[in-house]
Order: sequence, then C-alpha cells, then structure tokens
Amino acid sequence: MTVYTLPDLDYDYSALAPYIAPEIMELHHSKHHAAYVAGANTALEKLAEARASGDFSNISKLEKDLAFNLGGHINHSVFWKNMTPAGGGQPTGPLAQAIEQDFSGFAAFQQHFNQTALSLQGSGWAILAWDALSGRLNVHQLYDQQGNLPAAQIPLLQLDMWEHAFYLQYRNVKADYVQAWWNVVNWDDVAARHQRALTQTAGLL
Ligand code: MN
Repeated sequence: MTVYTLPDLDYDYSALAPYIAPEIMELHHSKHHAAYVAGANTALEKLAEARASGDFSNISKLEKDLAFNLGGHINHSVFWKNMTPAGGGQPTGPLAQAIEQDFSGFAAFQQHFNQTALSLQGSGWAILAWDALSGRLNVHQLYDQQGNLPAAQIPLLQLDMWEHAFYLQYRNVKADYVQAWWNVVNWDDVAARHQRALTQTAGLL
C-alpha cells in the first residue's frame, strides 16, 4: 500500500529568517507535519482493516481522521514549496494576468488575501486556489486542515495561520507575521502550480 511520506524541505530550517524563525520551522516540519503524515497513514491502515474485517462501525471517525491528517499533509507540502529565501516581490506572466483579471490587480488581491488570513476564527489557512471546474482563481478560508472549501479548488499558494506557525516569534500579532511572510513567497513555484493546474484540469467541467 502506498503511504504518505514527510517531504524534505528545499532549504535549511534557518533559511527563511528573519521572517520565519528557525525554531518555528524545525518544530513545524519535523513535529507538526510529521504528525499529520503519521495520522494519515494510521487512518489508511485502519480503513484497510475495516475493509478486511467488514466492520465499518468506525467509518465516520476514520474518514474524518483521514481528511484532517491528509489535509495537514497536503497543506504543509504546498506551503513549504510556496516559500524560498529568495522570495518576495510580485508574480509575472500568466499568473500575474490571471490575478489582474480575477481580482482587479495585485494590490487588491494581496489585501483580499491578507484579510482572509487575518479574519480566520481559530486555526486555518488562507489559500489562493485554481477553481478547476469554473476556470478562475479564488481566495478561500480553510478551517483547520480541511473545512470550508468547495471541491476542485487546487491550491496554488497557502498561508498557515495556525498559531504553531507564528506564535513563538510573533505572539498574537498576526498582521506582522502575514506582512513578513510575503517576503519569502516563491512566486516561481506559485506560477508553476498555476500553469500545471491550467493544463492538467482543462476540460474537467
Ligand atoms: Mn502548520
């Protein structure tokens, strides 16, 4: 059975400083993300046991466990790639044109994204996603690791707003964390995700 695995980062834990502290990066990747990977694999194992035994009495809990932990694995896998020490600035090319078209410009998009992140109630994510069935970009609030998101929204850019992502460095000042994070956004990665989403989801509607 294929299992989920914790991906290596493309940079050192200290590489995103001063914007994201090394201590946060190490805990976040080696403890938090690792726990989601383990949880997703445990859910898969228990679902396989249920199929083998024919006892599906625990199915609702197992499907929730799978959604939560796989959500955590996917969200963090995209988040790590969305960041680079050589990040910041603004996108160019087709992604920039799509942002212009769907959000009336980069400044309006960035303000929309920031307010989406800062107004989350509790733990969650701000996401720039490609709506594969409708063919446009959307910004979403993702609650916890898996809630409040329509189907077919392919994540292009994700910002982790769980307290574990910022509290050791920024305490309760979420706005400073969000502002700093834009300095490490890897627009090349976001643009590549946008291009792959465009080509691989064409015609799905
Ligand atoms: Mn996280």
